[in-house]
Amino acid sequence: MTRPAGSGFVDARQRRRRAPRIQTSARLLRPRLPPLGTLMFSSLFGSVTKDIAIDLGTANTLIYMKGRGIVLNEPSVVALRTVGGRKETYAVGLEAKQMLGRTPGHMEAIRPLRDGVIADFEVAEEMIKYFIRKVHNYKSFVNPKVIVCVPSGATAVERRAIKDSCLNAGARRVALMDEPMAAAIGAGLPIHEATGSMVVDIGGGTTEVAVLSLSGVVYSRSVRVGGDTMDEAIISYMRRSYNLLIGETTAERIKKEIGTARPPEEGDGLAIDVKGRDLMQGVPREVRVAERQAAEALSEPVAQIVDAVRMALESTPPELASDIADKGIMLTGGGALLRGLDAEITEHTGLPVTVADDPLSCVALGCGKVLEHPSWMKSVMDASGS
Ligand code: ADP
Ligand code: MG
Repeated sequence: MTRPAGSGFVDARQRRRRAPRIQTSARLLRPRLPPLGTLMFSSLFGSVTKDIAIDLGTANTLIYMKGRGIVLNEPSVVALRTVGGRKETYAVGLEAKQMLGRTPGHMEAIRPLRDGVIADFEVAEEMIKYFIRKVHNYKSFVNPKVIVCVPSGATAVERRAIKDSCLNAGARRVALMDEPMAAAIGAGLPIHEATGSMVVDIGGGTTEVAVLSLSGVVYSRSVRVGGDTMDEAIISYMRRSYNLLIGETTAERIKKEIGTARPPEEGDGLAIDVKGRDLMQGVPREVRVAERQAAEALSEPVAQIVDAVRMALESTPPELASDIADKGIMLTGGGALLRGLDAEITEHTGLPVTVADDPLSCVALGCGKVLEHPSWMKSVMDASGS
């Protein structure tokens, strides 16, 4: 059977095989009993494979299943264990994230998509494989059609590698979709109309700024600043100002609990206690940090995000710029949850800014919507995906 031209999908025959370097631990392959309802359903209708859309984020991976909505939302983290000189995946997702920074010598917890690119293809593939199997109740023979969202800045090599990973993970056909497009659809922007919409997706590794009109991307730019940069800024601030060494998990907690793009108008604002290792004494110590300090720590990454938005506005054709001036800017991605970021962008651009309803799910919802409406496929699919 030939693939319809322009559908954006590549199929399994085009996959490239590689000898595996990493094995999957038996504990992850264990078939688990699906809920009774699923058992009855699959025994009545045979094996049921549902097509899926994957938001392969640097911080979180979400999977949308056709007809069911978001069925998986887990951190993009894999824990590897070395057994007899060989590496095997020990845990994936939430369980692996809890191990970050806490692993003994023979184990490592890694984020295969660090810094907005796939840092380790094989580990990424293991992760995708595990998630696809998980949403299909650990059945071994699942061959879904898959749409994967990729950052608009991903290179041809990276796109090819993501496709190969999905095909190796069991996908029957794979299509790629640009992330800003998915984010915009998920946030409910009228991307099919002849009007300019601006979406700013602030993820873990990158911030993507895009202007869309008539189902196409007019401008897009990806900068390597996002939630991770904010965490790093907090780590270095704590070291500089308090002589305290903290880990990534603690930095992320500070950001989520008291992080803000703008210092409080008066006083120091909300404060929390933070534990780390004293760099002078070498022992654990606790200090109190407040919103004012968090704002100071985050000022640089916040300024970089604001700059990226300003640069996009400067490169937008005038008609579209006037549409954006009317409708404003939509923020998506986990970074959109940083308090005061909308107000900060408004102050530096003079434009209204809206935070999407569920910023962490926008990309998966948008990608899922395309899965539900195959007629949208052709118009919004990444051109290089065909
Ligand atoms: P990706 O698409 O790269 O996986 P996400 O859109 O899932 O990224 O966003 C994850 C990022 O959002 C992480 O860096 C996380 O720390 C950050 N984040 C989540 N909640 C908040 C919050 N309330 N305030 C600030 N940052 C947040
Ligand atoms: Mg994302």
